[in-house]
Amino acid sequence: MEKVVLVTGGSRGIGAAAAILAADAGYDVAVNYRSDGPAAERVVGQIEARGRRAIAIQADVGAPDQIPPLFEAVDAEFGRLDALVNNAGIVSPVSRLDVMEAARIERILRINVVGAMLCAREAVRRMSTRHGGRGGVIVNVSSAAARLGSPGEFVDYAASKGAIDSFTLGLAKEVADERIRVNAVRPGLIETEIHDSAGVPDRVERMAPGVPVKRAGTADEVAEALVWLISDRSSYVTGALLDVSGGR
Ligand code: NAP
Repeated sequence: MEKVVLVTGGSRGIGAAAAILAADAGYDVAVNYRSDGPAAERVVGQIEARGRRAIAIQADVGAPDQIPPLFEAVDAEFGRLDALVNNAGIVSPVSRLDVMEAARIERILRINVVGAMLCAREAVRRMSTRHGGRGGVIVNVSSAAARLGSPGEFVDYAASKGAIDSFTLGLAKEVADERIRVNAVRPGLIETEIHDSAGVPDRVERMAPGVPVKRAGTADEVAEALVWLISDRSSYVTGALLDVSGGR
C-alpha cells in the first residue's frame, strides 16, 4: 500500500504544489478545499496523471464539526493516513489593530489556529502508537510573519502563525515517543493568490525588493520543504521551524 497524505487547502497555491510534489514522491493524496471544487479537481487530475490515487474533499477547517468528517472521508477512501500537511490558512485585508473588529480576529484564529489544531488532533488519533497507529508526520504551515509580526498589515495573522509555532514545538514533544514527528515550515513572501485578500494591488511585486534575495518565492519552492519534512529523509527532524523565506 502507498503512503497517504492529507493536504488541507490543497486546491490552490502552496497546498496544491505540495499535493502534486507529494504525488511525484509516491504518495496518494487527499486534497481538501473549502470552496473551489473545480480547482481541487484539477489538482486531483494532475496527481492521477502521475499514476497516484487522489480524492478531493470539501471541508471548512474553520468549522470544527466539519473536521472529523474530513478525516473519516480519508479513512473511507484510503484506509490509512501517514502524513498531514496542515496548510489551509487565510489573511484579511491590511489593517491596523486599532480599527480591527473582533469578528475578523476570531475568524483568523478559528481557521488558522483552531482549525490546524483540530486537524492535528484527528491525525494524532490515527497515527499515534498510543492509539494503535503506525506513526506518521504532521507539517504545519506557519509564516515568517510569526517572527516579523506584520505591523500595520495584519498583526492578527502574524499572531495566528506565532501560535502555530508554539503548537508545533509542544505537540512535537508530546507525541515524539508515539512515532509522530511534528514540524513547521515558515514561508516568506510567496507568489500565490492569498495576497489578493490583503487588498493591496501588486503587494508581491512591491515587497519583493525588500527580500534579501530580491525576489518572491514560488509555491513549488515551499512544497520542496514540505515534502522533505513528510518523507523519511527527515526522520530525525521534529519540533523544527524551517524558514523558506529568501533570507527575510
Ligand atoms: P492560497 O493561494 O490563498 O490558497 C489557500 C488554500 O487554502 C486554498 O486551497 C483554499 O481553498 C484553502 N482554504 C482557505 N480557507 C480554508 C478553510 N477555511 N478550509 C479549508 N480550506 C481552506 O494561499 P497560500 O498562499 O497557498 O497559503 C497557504 C498557507 O501558506 C497558508 O497557511 C498561509 O498562511 C501560508 N503562507 C503563505 C504565504 C504567502 O506569501 N503566500 C506566506 C507565508 C505563509 P479554496 O480555494 O477552496 O477556498
